[in-house]
Amino acid sequence: MPIIVKNPIVEMDGDEMTRIIWQMIKEKLILPHLAIDLKYFDLGMKHRDDTDDRVTIEAAEAIKQHHVGVKCATITPNAARVKEYNLKKQWPSPNATIRSILDGTVFRKPIIVKNVPPAVRSWTKPILIGRHAYGDIYKSSELVVDGPGRAEVVFTPAGGGQARTVAIHDFKGPGVVMGMHNTDASIRSFARACIQYSLAEKVDIWFGAKDTISKQYHGRFRDIFAEEVGKAQADLERAGIQYRYMLIDDAVAQIMKAEGGMLWACMNYDGDVMSDMVASGFGSLGLMTSVLVSPDGKYVYEAAHGTVMRHYYEHLKGNPTSTNSVASIFAWTGALARRAALDGTPEVAAFARKLEAAVIGTIESGVMTKDLAAIAEPKPGKHALTEEFIDAVAKRL
Ligand code: NAP
Ligand code: MG
Repeated sequence: MPIIVKNPIVEMDGDEMTRIIWQMIKEKLILPHLAIDLKYFDLGMKHRDDTDDRVTIEAAEAIKQHHVGVKCATITPNAARVKEYNLKKQWPSPNATIRSILDGTVFRKPIIVKNVPPAVRSWTKPILIGRHAYGDIYKSSELVVDGPGRAEVVFTPAGGGQARTVAIHDFKGPGVVMGMHNTDASIRSFARACIQYSLAEKVDIWFGAKDTISKQYHGRFRDIFAEEVGKAQADLERAGIQYRYMLIDDAVAQIMKAEGGMLWACMNYDGDVMSDMVASGFGSLGLMTSVLVSPDGKYVYEAAHGTVMRHYYEHLKGNPTSTNSVASIFAWTGALARRAALDGTPEVAAFARKLEAAVIGTIESGVMTKDLAAIAEPKPGKHALTEEFIDAVAKRL
């Protein structure tokens, strides 16, 4: 008897090698065990082009309605892709479209297996990273100054009224200037998404900034975060979750000695840099999952890696591939566990845990794809091909 999933999950198909893997996961690991209503949206490059990208917007609207989505990696077209797929235009990144419709924040979470040791010895639990992906240097204006003069920040109120000016620097010679911004609304959404996700994952929240130096800009982030944490205090306390604000350099130093098991909320630049450090510290892109969380609790799960194009072209030539499907499988288990939490269906949550245990058990028994075989201890005698690995998981399940 299949396990019944009470409410729908929005499924978004994707491109290239991950699309091949997606089909196998569904056929071999999901559909044989679950009676599930999947609202299917084909975000493959061709279909996005055929629908003038409407399918991406429809998928985002469906997530608003059903609250949980699972997404396969998709191509973000560049000039080369426009030619390759003969596209009408260079469509925007589906992830960016969905993120902006849901006003969401992306979190990354590594999957831990015993025989793929992290680069940092103390990291025995996942470090979840949340990056505030709006503003700061990523939406700034810059100016190269070619000689002596004064640089200022000027704010002109929209409805008229007195402009406000602060001096940046009196240049004695050439230099550079940058103006950047953020908005209270965006910082608040970020803080609320972090709180949502920490409640879902039952982990403490760390937030670091440099408010000793940047008393107003970074101070604003610290204050808005504290306000939102204050509003959620009862929920956080009930879940046993602590909020820690610290200086960013202190956070970096402490992360290196911590065992993990926290959500590290980062300002935009810190998140850009630190998410790559944490990802490579945990081993492989194939073991990194990603989840988009909106401030009002909509969740979209996916693998953090892309469509693994190089492997796809080998596959098209008929050559065997060894592509890691673990992060894609965990996108499914993440979505199922979330669905179960919303629906109050412990049997669905138990299935998600069982599937995750089957994946980890398979790797720990020495069956793994090439990317992991290269960094595992002990090294396995041989690596599994793409489908062999999924079959081994299905057998164990
Ligand atoms: P990628 O797909 O992440 O792959 C880069 C390289 O990383 C691969 O060639 C492979 O290395 C290794 N790798 C990544 N995932 C792996 C896995 N599951 N198993 C084994 N090895 C893995 O990045 P890309 O090639 O730069 O991008 C391809 C396409 O993906 C682009 O069109 C991009 O727009 C898109 N993309 C989508 C998303 C998303 O939808 N979230 C995210 C990033 C990129 P080796 O070749 O050395 O084996
Ligand atoms: Mg980066």
